[in-house]
Amino acid sequence: MQLRSTDFKTVKYHWFECPQCRHRSWTVAMRSQYSTVKPHFLLVCRCERCGQLFALSNWRYFLPRVVVSVILFLVLYKVVISGLSLPLILFVGLAAAAVTVVLDRLMGRWLNRYVAFNDINP
Ligand SMILES: [Zn+2]
Repeated sequence: MQLRSTDFKTVKYHWFECPQCRHRSWTVAMRSQYSTVKPHFLLVCRCERCGQLFALSNWRYFLPRVVVSVILFLVLYKVVISGLSLPLILFVGLAAAAVTVVLDRLMGRWLNRYVAFNDINP
C-alpha cells in the first residue's frame, strides 16, 4: 500500500541511464515514494525520452554513500581531535564537503542502476 508520493521534480547532477531506450543524462525527473510494503522507500525516475518510469535500486543507491559518509566522518573526527587550529579545521571541513559532493556524483555515475517501476511495484 502506497502511503505517500511526492510530485516529480527535476534533479540536476543525478546520473540517469534509461534501461529501455539507453537515454543518458545528468538531469532527471524524480519523485520519492513511501509504502507499507517492501521496498518501503523508492526513488522513481521518469525518462525524458521514452516517458517510462524506473526505480533506483535501494541498496545500490544508499549503501556506498553510507560507507563513504562514515569514512569521511571518522577522518573529520580525527582532524578535530588532533589539536589543529580552527581555520585549518574549517579548511579541512570544507575540503571534505567538496570531496563528498564529487564522490557522490562519481558513485552515482557508476553505481546507479534502474529497474522498471512496474517490476518492483505491481
Ligand atoms: Zn527511456
